[in-house]
Amino acid sequence: MATDESELYQTAAVERRCPQCGGRTRLVEKDTSSGRDMREYGCDACGWRRAFDVGPALWTLMSGDGGGEPES
Ligand SMILES: [Zn+2]
Repeated sequence: MATDESELYQTAAVERRCPQCGGRTRLVEKDTSSGRDMREYGCDACGWRRAFDVGPALWTLMSGDGGGEPES
């Protein structure tokens, strides 16, 4: 993630503050179908929206490729 991207993520996703109007943001969509954990945050007050790629989707980590040994 680029620096301004992580700053935006910090503001919109962690602090839940709209970078545009200062209102409250919420998670509007989560999509892991591409293998990446994509989360879109939005602000109802001004209509601001932004999707963030927050890393590999959880299911790709649990699929066994390069993962840990299963418990036995
Ligand atoms: Zn806003």
